[in-house]
Amino acid sequence: MTTLALELHRSIPRYLAQRTIGRRVPGLLAGPISSLRLVHREAPSPPAGGWARVRPVLSGICGSDLTTLSGEASLYFSALVSLPFVPGHEVVGVLSNDLDGLSAGQRVVLDPVLGCEARGIAPLCHPCARSDHGLCERVTGGHVAAGLQTGFCADTGGGWSGSLVAHRSQLHAVPDELADETALMTEPLACAIHAVRRANVPRDARVLVVGAGTVGLLTIAALREFSEAGPVVAVAKHAHQAALARAYGATEVVPPAEALGAVRRATQAFRLHPERSHPFLLGGADVTFECAGSRGSMDLALRSTRARGRVVLAGMPPRVDLSPAWFRELEVVGAYSGAGAFDDSLGMLAGSDIGRLVSATYPLDRWREAIDHALSAGRLGSVKIAFDPTKE
Ligand SMILES: [Zn+2]
Repeated sequence: MTTLALELHRSIPRYLAQRTIGRRVPGLLAGPISSLRLVHREAPSPPAGGWARVRPVLSGICGSDLTTLSGEASLYFSALVSLPFVPGHEVVGVLSNDLDGLSAGQRVVLDPVLGCEARGIAPLCHPCARSDHGLCERVTGGHVAAGLQTGFCADTGGGWSGSLVAHRSQLHAVPDELADETALMTEPLACAIHAVRRANVPRDARVLVVGAGTVGLLTIAALREFSEAGPVVAVAKHAHQAALARAYGATEVVPPAEALGAVRRATQAFRLHPERSHPFLLGGADVTFECAGSRGSMDLALRSTRARGRVVLAGMPPRVDLSPAWFRELEVVGAYSGAGAFDDSLGMLAGSDIGRLVSATYPLDRWREAIDHALSAGRLGSVKIAFDPTKE
């Protein structure tokens, strides 16, 4: 059985070109220097018992996918993937055969982490043994090749294709009343819920959310659902993002250039202006979520958080100046996956309007337009862009 798939291949000259000119020249990343190829390939086969085929019906384009495509991802991750892989870890699909309590035809969402259970590794590593499979320590062994998640593993296939394989432990049934677009947000929302839990937000804490794309907006919504945060200042570049940030619970929304001043006013902090660098605060937000993944947003997050406050990395982080983390004794906390928050995510999506964040879907053969759209989503008034592999 063959399937249409977008495959990511790596070549060093292309990688260097991506890093050098990457996002600065729109069109190139989806054009001549792209690592993606549209191919007809053999559909992946279940590698062991407990696995089944899934036919993706929607698969999102995530910020981490764009960071990988643009060559901006740290080489740290090169040991955690196997090439070539089919990207796509935000997946709504249809199960192709019966699998341990789920029937063929069942709509499912994918928890993409490939932990010990999926890999058939026994005994389970310590995190997996306590159901923290998002922290699995064996993501390179067992039944499938190295890959921290589906969408970064050469053997499983990924959501940007007509067929992938998944282990029963990765699959969650989608309630019939959830539209595909709403279900697509399950994985991103699970990550946001997890980030809020990692933040351990004190009651009435003054919170800063930097970025109002998918991650930032879902973080604001999850803060209102799963914490007792006080005022939330959100940083948004674009008008539609600002309106959505307010709708999901932000108290005040400001553009990046006004963010430090807004936090200063909201927290009675003191602003300092270092030489040839950005200003920073003494005092500031109790908890800050970095949700944009750029150097500027990370700088802002670190420089706006009070001493011993907490900075949560809700997306794949850029390289940054950690001076504020040392001087202000910040707690910098990672929040990597949504593993463990899928049931809460599905519960929160029921009756919500979060599916409206899916702004456009593309068939696989229009992948260049899709990637271009995702790279410019904010500027184009969009939020989440996705592939619909069932469309020709
Ligand atoms: Zn494990």
